[in-house]
Amino acid sequence: MTTVHAPATFDSLNPATDAVVGTYAVHSAEQVEAAVARAKEAADWWASLGFAGRAERLGRWRAAIARRMSELCAVVGEETGKPAGDAQLEVVLAIEHLAWAAKNARKVLGPRRRMPGLLLSNQAASVEYHPLGVIGVIGPWNYPVYTPLGSVSYALAAGNAVVFKPSEYTPGVGKWLVDTFAEAVPERPVLQLVTGLGETGAALTRAGVDKIAFTGSAATGKKVMAAAAETLTPVVIEAGGKDPLLVDEDADLDAAADATVWGAFSNAGQTCAGVERVYVHQRVYDEFVAKVVDKARRVEPGRDYGPMTMPAQLDVVRRHIEDALARGGKALLGGKDAVGARFVEPTVLVDVPEDSAAVREETFGPTVTIAKVADMDEAVAKANDSTYGLGSTVFSKQRGMELARRLRTGQTAINAPLSFAGIASLPFGGLGDSGFGRIHGPEGLREFARPKAIARQRFPAPIALTTFARSKTTEALVGKLIAKLHGRG
Ligand code: NDP
Repeated sequence: MTTVHAPATFDSLNPATDAVVGTYAVHSAEQVEAAVARAKEAADWWASLGFAGRAERLGRWRAAIARRMSELCAVVGEETGKPAGDAQLEVVLAIEHLAWAAKNARKVLGPRRRMPGLLLSNQAASVEYHPLGVIGVIGPWNYPVYTPLGSVSYALAAGNAVVFKPSEYTPGVGKWLVDTFAEAVPERPVLQLVTGLGETGAALTRAGVDKIAFTGSAATGKKVMAAAAETLTPVVIEAGGKDPLLVDEDADLDAAADATVWGAFSNAGQTCAGVERVYVHQRVYDEFVAKVVDKARRVEPGRDYGPMTMPAQLDVVRRHIEDALARGGKALLGGKDAVGARFVEPTVLVDVPEDSAAVREETFGPTVTIAKVADMDEAVAKANDSTYGLGSTVFSKQRGMELARRLRTGQTAINAPLSFAGIASLPFGGLGDSGFGRIHGPEGLREFARPKAIARQRFPAPIALTTFARSKTTEALVGKLIAKLHGRG
């Protein structure tokens, strides 16, 4: 007897109302493998177009996204609950990155001459970057356009096909992006969508892709890496953060307070590189804290930011606040009752012990801890005392560059919040529990390509070393030459 299973589906909900906004297939491992097989063929065609052919088509896609931005923002708003202005901000940044990747792919990945060195001066040496093939992109829900496109755009510009698995909370955004790509590039399935829950993502890591680009929590990142290890599939992991902001005694305190409030509370704190901890020089601590509280008081959930997209995150935020208060911390704004059924009020915590969950673990909610430090050495030491290392921010008039260089994070913004995320030519990524590898910028293009080295002989070597016909005289000559060249010092 054969049992016929109806295809499994799941609903995408509006987190502000729980209304169902779409129903999507839970793709099985077989369906994911079939998508990857189709992608392999599409990848050959896409690679054969060359940089110019791809740039032209990526330009069509970029133009469609830019023209129909309000449509995309509406889907983002429905699935994440974020205000229209925030949805637009992430779409704008994603468009900038797509444009940069398409425009710069040839310059970054195209053939380049290299010096062959004295002994092999008869060779013409060059390197060029070839596409990997098929990239599996697994994305989160917090910036469902900007974050996955940080991998997708760069992978496509480098000549790869992509199979994209969006978060189960934002499949509609993923579908919109893939559908508009198919309108711009109707010839082959160069960018495909697979939907489902975590298991569909797990299937993608095992489906024979040439690289996995994962963005999500460190815990899931470890599972993805373990699964990818079975087939030696390389991974780039963009995981969470516990980003610090440092305020020096000479800082513009209004600007620093504004950046703290935006960095901590925008998108309901659901930003991987959002501000979660602040370390302030003792001389300006009281004034700075007063400014933050004053500005934070005017931030209104529902107007300035949306609900928590993932209901389970409410428990994490509540636990961090309760733990901080139980251990001697004080809430200058928000606190125990800040966590509602869907929304969380802005919460400013001070005097929180450095070893408490609110300081050590990623909260991913609209809360911030502020601590007083004796000097900026203490600020740097405390900022660096974290298992994460994604982003950081420094407010200082004199010492911005020096402090930025000392922070153990992938990127640092000086005197502005999160500025690095909008600059398409800068690489983005973390260290430690924040992951490894880079998206964005030239490094982001190279992440999805393999270097191909070519040495072309221009004329026979005057000193032939790689032949059995090599003479003792040649060996003696080379020995003397190298001793003369490198033997000094
Ligand atoms: P998760 O780790 O829960 O999920 C990320 C993605 O992985 C989702 O698409 C998820 O699918 C999928 N997934 C779940 N289980 C598996 C598995 N076993 N194998 C493969 N894929 C799987 O993260 P969130 O979606 O909650 O995203 C929030 C996290 O992302 C935060 O930690 C945040 O800091 C981080 N982040 C990092 C960024 C960066 O660039 N460094 C940028 C943005 C966010 P499903 O949703 O269907 O379960």
